[in-house]
Amino acid sequence: MQQDILSTFLNQADQKAFSRRHRQTIQFNISRYDEKVAIGKQQFADLEKARQLAKNIKWQAIENLPTLLLEFERNFTARGGKVLWAEDAAQARILIKNILIEQKTDLVVKSKSMITEEIELNDFLAEQDIEVLETDLGEYIVQLRNETPYHIITPAMHLNKADVAELFHQKFATPADATPAQIMAFVRQQMRAKFAQAQVGITGANFIIADTGSILITENEGNARLTSTLPPVHIALVGIEKVLPSVQDLDVFLPLLSTYGTGQQLTVYNTLISAPQQKNEKDGAQQMYVILIDNGRSRLVADPKLRESLYCIRCGSCLNNCPVYKNIGGHTYDAPYPGPIGAVLMPHLGNFEENAHLSNASSLCGACTESCPVKINLHELILYNRHLETEKNLKPTDEQRMWKMWAWLSSKRWLMNTPRFAKRWFAKRYLMPLWGERRVFPQFEGKTFNQLWKKGLV
Ligand code: SF4
Repeated sequence: MQQDILSTFLNQADQKAFSRRHRQTIQFNISRYDEKVAIGKQQFADLEKARQLAKNIKWQAIENLPTLLLEFERNFTARGGKVLWAEDAAQARILIKNILIEQKTDLVVKSKSMITEEIELNDFLAEQDIEVLETDLGEYIVQLRNETPYHIITPAMHLNKADVAELFHQKFATPADATPAQIMAFVRQQMRAKFAQAQVGITGANFIIADTGSILITENEGNARLTSTLPPVHIALVGIEKVLPSVQDLDVFLPLLSTYGTGQQLTVYNTLISAPQQKNEKDGAQQMYVILIDNGRSRLVADPKLRESLYCIRCGSCLNNCPVYKNIGGHTYDAPYPGPIGAVLMPHLGNFEENAHLSNASSLCGACTESCPVKINLHELILYNRHLETEKNLKPTDEQRMWKMWAWLSSKRWLMNTPRFAKRWFAKRYLMPLWGERRVFPQFEGKTFNQLWKKGLV
């Protein structure tokens, strides 16, 4: 099983890394991101101080997780909201199903939420004959293509304008050369009717706030605001690590998230919801549920090293800065959280054995750590996962044999004087097959170690 997953990963990585088209699209989209982020960062008088402050706040939040979650629950339920707790993905799906049965609905509008990908909600609801409409444009595009999101912030990053125009032309007979504005207008018209029709809206939340009992949703299209306020019932799905102690903490988190996520100073719509519609109010869902999902996060809290990974605010910056992600692309990871943060989280949120290979898809260059707004030591955690993989004896047998052989060879001083023809024979037989077709195999030095030493060359 593990070997099959690894083979699929390697094949997919090979295809993407050598696809000129994929490379051009990703390089273009990420270069635009880089330009915007560089401008966005200028809004901070002291960016390092802001990042450190954010890390400190998340440290405080995760160290006091049970207390803060209960504080959130107390404050939110005091105004009529309902909080449900799900230990894993299956429990979360059942809780959602029960609400949908109670509401007798067969249509759900949904805004972008990575945790719904994590619990595979769309497939589950399709099995229950419930239609789910993704209302974020990027998510809608990948839904139309029967794909999963390519990136945690930009789901359709792997497509260009022409790809999207072609998709809408095929699905809805819009002009083959439709502009982004024309496509947006078409989608908006389609969705308005569904918003009005749907009994239930499902969103995620970027933060949950303990001291006010609120959820915060940040987005650029306004669809999450409609999803959470137009249907009579709103369900927000949130990982337990999203809690912040105070509403004042948003001062630092909102600009950091928007800058590192998209290069904006502030995202266009920031919706703070603290309750279902109150008696003196005209807008908002009449019933509101927040489902707090663990799904492996407690395992991360229990490990003093990995706990730091829960500081993640899902900005996507580590993906955009990762040389491996930029080459092999988001779909290759086959995981809701790809890239460096996925390599850290997925083995613990999912099955360790099936996801352990993700930690090996890293050059450990540290670009992820440098680009993280909350200063998570991502490359060290990736290395730590590799250590766990070795401890659990999950490394492929060939690799284990190879390292044993390497350790044996390296510990033999006399082998340094092996003649070149013998080294070449050994390398050709055992190492070159692993080297890949596209790299030039290094040449061996003609002289032995002792000869070089005597000449003072080593
Ligand atoms: S680990 Fe850091 S850079 Fe990566 S998505 Fe999370 S917050 Fe952003």
